[in-house]
Formats: sequence, structure tokens, C-alpha cells
Amino acid sequence: MHSRRRQWISAFIGLGLGLSWLGPQTAAAHERPATPDNIAATSLDACPVAGPSSFIDSWGDPRSSGRRHEGVDMEADRGTPVVAVRDGSAEFKRSNLGGNAIWLTAATGERFYYAHLDDWAGNSRRVRAGEVIGYVGQSGNARGDHLHFEVRPGDAAVNAFPLVDAACNLSVGRAPIRVVLGPLVR
Ligand SMILES: [Zn+2]
Repeated sequence: MHSRRRQWISAFIGLGLGLSWLGPQTAAAHERPATPDNIAATSLDACPVAGPSSFIDSWGDPRSSGRRHEGVDMEADRGTPVVAVRDGSAEFKRSNLGGNAIWLTAATGERFYYAHLDDWAGNSRRVRAGEVIGYVGQSGNARGDHLHFEVRPGDAAVNAFPLVDAACNLSVGRAPIRVVLGPLVR
């Protein structure tokens, strides 16, 4: 409802400026899609966390400094192995926000982001799907042990929840998924 109203407002502004067609399209381009339709553009060959984990769909939830949550927070015990979800090139990086983090780039170009690791496994290298690349922790801007995992088919992230849900329920089995009660990242 809100976005529709914004589009109408933009339409009127656009009319006033003689940009009646550009107005609504520009507004729409800045809206964050609630459910990206390019979710089928990629897939996971392994669950990012090789062990019991719990997670919910928190796509778009508010975070500090006006940010929106662009990943899935997979709550798991500290030290639980984290694995490559695809064959590709794993680059280990450290940042204030992500702590000990990994960018995994698949041969087909999709990128996967792992954050808040307790530690890495080895060094940056080419990896195979399922290979251990780190361990769950709470480094960087995290509260509580969990893996923050993002899927980026292109420049923008898409909601990783459906992909993670499918991959992890296959590889972990039918362990019950606990509901995370509070946000794990500020
Ligand atoms: Zn997160």
C-alpha cells in the first residue's frame, strides 16, 4: 500500500515536471522487492552450516544505521563447521561489520557471503561444495553465535531463506527448526 502511494505521489510530481512516465518507473526502481523473482537464478549444492542450525526468514528486517537485513541468520553452536555451498573461489576477509568473513564466488558468477565466523579453515583458495571453510561464531557486529549468509546472483542480494531451507532440510534431515526469538545482529 505504501509503495503504491509513493508511486502515485511520484506520478503527480512527474506530471508536474513533464516526466509523467519516468516518475513512477524511477520510484519503483528504488523500492526493495519483498520477494525477488530472480531467486531461481541460483542454487545451493550444500547447506552452509554442517550441523544443527535454526533460522527464520528475516529478509528485509531493520538493522542498525537504516540497513536492511539481506541474509539468513543461521543460529548454531560456536565451532560448528561452515562449508562452501558451491564449487568456487573462497576469499577470506575481515571487516568491522562482518568480522571474519568469506566471499565465495561460483564459476557461474554468483557470490555467497559468510559473516561472523569464529575462525576460518585454512586460507583463501579454490574449494569444492561441502568443503569446510570456517566455523560458526560471533565476530564483527554480531550478538550470539550464528552464521550470517547471503546469496548474490548479481550485484544485489536475494532472499536466501528458501534456498537455505531447501538445502539444509535435505542435508541435516528432519531436525525441528527452532524459532529465533530475537535479532542476532544489531
Ligand atoms: Zn544477519
